[in-house]
Amino acid sequence: MNKINSPLEIYKLLPKSNCKQCQIPTCLAFAGAVIKGQKKLSDCPHLDKDLIERFEGKIEKHKTLEEQQREFMETLKKEVVRIDFPSSADRLGASFSADKLTIKCLNKNFSVDTKGNITSECHVNSWIAVPLLNYVIICKGMDITQKWVPLRELKDGAQWIPLFEQRCEKPLKQLADNHMELFDDMLSVFGGKPAEVSFDSDISLILYPLPKVPMLICYCQPEEDMESKLNVFFDSSADDNINIESLYYLGAGLVNMFEKIVSRRS
Ligand code: SF4
Repeated sequence: MNKINSPLEIYKLLPKSNCKQCQIPTCLAFAGAVIKGQKKLSDCPHLDKDLIERFEGKIEKHKTLEEQQREFMETLKKEVVRIDFPSSADRLGASFSADKLTIKCLNKNFSVDTKGNITSECHVNSWIAVPLLNYVIICKGMDITQKWVPLRELKDGAQWIPLFEQRCEKPLKQLADNHMELFDDMLSVFGGKPAEVSFDSDISLILYPLPKVPMLICYCQPEEDMESKLNVFFDSSADDNINIESLYYLGAGLVNMFEKIVSRRS
């Protein structure tokens, strides 16, 4: 028999009595727990030994998001090992000392060692770790053009637009609508700079999630019948200095961080 890789296939093997003796409310939920690796077939006392022996080894467990991210980080670290650190500092807008590259992300220092391990004065979560290692690997060191473009105009950007709007622009707009003080944080805490041109918006400021990957945030406040508006733009050199997936990570990570700041305040 082929591998079992869906909860429904597991469910078909169960008695479907929902007796709860496995400490799970239903057989279907038990099947879901087995595919996630949280339960084993043998945790159902009604399955006979032969059936368990026949199928247990054939179950392909679904990886959690954390497991997938951990595996992805390991892949990136293997690529970082091949990078020549001393000659990369200039390319990355970083500094190099003691076998580490130190890169400024939103005004905070993050150090990457030659094995791809990241240390910082701040908490290092996957929202920053993945783009940071991708930046070390991919960045061509292109100079910033100061020509701002929406995500869709960057290489492979169009396919990321729905997710980017959903996870970055919309929640960022909501945060701005309710917590205008965040813009002060962006300037004072995260090293943002007011944009020299207003871009037809009430607030337009530039953040540097990575030294050669700036981000322009334009916000228009609500007016009478007009809803507020928030758009994020990238420098036209962005797709030479990082990949599109990392731009999404940076945008969504920014939202995640601002949401935490707001909830801590309230
Ligand atoms: S013990 Fe078995 S039969 Fe009972 S609910 Fe759990 S999976 Fe279903």
